[in-house]
Amino acid sequence: MADNKEIIKCPACDNEMKKIFIPDAGINIDICTEGCGGILFDNRELNKFDEPHENIDEILKAIDGKTFIKVDESETRVCPLCNVPMVKMGAGAGGVEIDVCNTCGAKFLDNGELQKIRGAEEVKNERLDALMNSLYKENLHDVIGKNADKNIKSSPRRQFFEDLVYKHLTR
Ligand SMILES: [Zn+2]
Ligand SMILES: [Zn+2]
Repeated sequence: MADNKEIIKCPACDNEMKKIFIPDAGINIDICTEGCGGILFDNRELNKFDEPHENIDEILKAIDGKTFIKVDESETRVCPLCNVPMVKMGAGAGGVEIDVCNTCGAKFLDNGELQKIRGAEEVKNERLDALMNSLYKENLHDVIGKNADKNIKSSPRRQFFEDLVYKHLTR
């Protein structure tokens, strides 16, 4: 994690970003509350918020009801933590393009992109569940009865399909 006290300027609109503390994850997130509504995640922090079951209430509270300025999402952003150009990368299952710093691992999401990623993850999870159910559920119910659902969710087969789907839906 980078220095939590440091004021960071938004890589998209140059406004000062606001530190939002996320109690569940125990970290600070920088959000451009006075500008474009973009969110900056340090290194691996985004992983704590991209799944639908992960709590983003604090993030939503910070941006709720605000009007944000429009920014050109195709522009190359410069990492506010280490001053090098960020690169565009697909993130999550939704084909959403985010800005990533290859030096420090920071990720910048434009307003609304986090919600898109999470929405796509949810759809992906539902599809996987349906696939796993159609392939194995009856079979597993016969074999192990009531615990089938739990076992399906954590089974190596599900993991295999999840990896497979990820590779096809993301680049
Ligand atoms: Zn901004
Ligand atoms: Zn960086």
